[in-house]
Amino acid sequence: MSYTFGLIGEKLGHSVSPIIHSKLYKILKMDARYDLFEIKKENLEIDFKDLKEKGIKGLNVTIPYKVDIMKYLDDVSIQASEIGAVNTVCFQDNKIIGHNTDYYGFARMLAKNDIPVKNKRIVVLGAGGAAKAVIQFFIDSNASEVLLVSRDVKKAAQNFKNVKIINYDELSLLKQGDVIVNCTPCGMYPKIENSPIDESCIGRFSSAVDLIYNPKETLFLKFAREKGIKSVNGLYMLVGQAIVAEELWNDITIDETIVDKIYNELLKEQL
Ligand code: NAP
Repeated sequence: MSYTFGLIGEKLGHSVSPIIHSKLYKILKMDARYDLFEIKKENLEIDFKDLKEKGIKGLNVTIPYKVDIMKYLDDVSIQASEIGAVNTVCFQDNKIIGHNTDYYGFARMLAKNDIPVKNKRIVVLGAGGAAKAVIQFFIDSNASEVLLVSRDVKKAAQNFKNVKIINYDELSLLKQGDVIVNCTPCGMYPKIENSPIDESCIGRFSSAVDLIYNPKETLFLKFAREKGIKSVNGLYMLVGQAIVAEELWNDITIDETIVDKIYNELLKEQL
């Protein structure tokens, strides 16, 4: 039997997801396909229900529907509920269940790169959707302190109740931290000349993580490398979240070596 999976979002032109999932189907010899479904805001409910009727087995969800989709689900996982966003939907036994696999993709990326979190001081840049999953992971992993940096502290405080929020001027006064994570789109292709912070600030941390994967080395990560600190881009997270979605949809466990294989192939292909 052949299965169809896919991604829903508003604009999906540059998505790498079909490549990642197709690589997995080839490796596991699965008879499956992964399609992109662009949905207009006003059609979300009807198009989502239509995809379910058509027998799609599972869907990923991206901008701007990670929160709105929750209205049409029967249940959500604990993590997705705490994060307040869903990026993976399973249609199982006539129920529609939501999960957040960004959380697990991020966790796998830190583990892969030996970045410890427990009892560490963490700084997260940008108060958007990705930061929600990242911050929840740090809280669940017993970081000693999580600071969220926002250009608009008041606005960020409405969406983030569980962390201390500071602005970029306050960040520049911070003397030391362990891990700094860029959860802003600042530095993403084509605006590769941008960085959310300058090099003097990055040098006060032991590791710098950027959720961006295009370019492979953002200016933020270049600063980190030049300061001699560990620097990691978001490609492993991207592959990791896709693989966890497949595990949920197919009720299987996928070996870590397969994540590594797909990640290494993508690196070579310079995605
Ligand atoms: P988002 O909601 O568009 O932006 C996140 C936050 O970044 C905004 O809320 C804003 O926070 C801050 N920001 C936006 N533009 C900025 C600018 N020009 N300068 C400084 N700060 C700015 O995006 P998101 O969905 O959270 O995703 C964030 C990044 O992570 C994107 O680049 C996305 O591609 C990447 N991502 C990667 C993965 C992966 O698997 N690797 C997964 C998810 C997301 P404030 O207004 O509070 O400052």
